[in-house]
Amino acid sequence: MPKVVYVNCPHCGKEFYIGQEFLVIEESYCHCPYCSQEFKPEAARRAARA
Ligand SMILES: [Zn+2]
Repeated sequence: MPKVVYVNCPHCGKEFYIGQEFLVIEESYCHCPYCSQEFKPEAARRAARA
C-alpha cells in the first residue's frame, strides 16, 4: 500500500495526494499540480481535516 497523504491546496482548494515523506521533512514544500503553487504540506493537511 503506497504511503500517501491527501491534502487540499490552500491556493485553489483542489485535493491531491503527496508522498508521506513530505510530512517528515521539515523544509519540504509540495507543488500543486493544478495551480503550480508551492506550500507547506503539513499546513495543507491540517486545513483539509479541520
Ligand atoms: Zn493549487
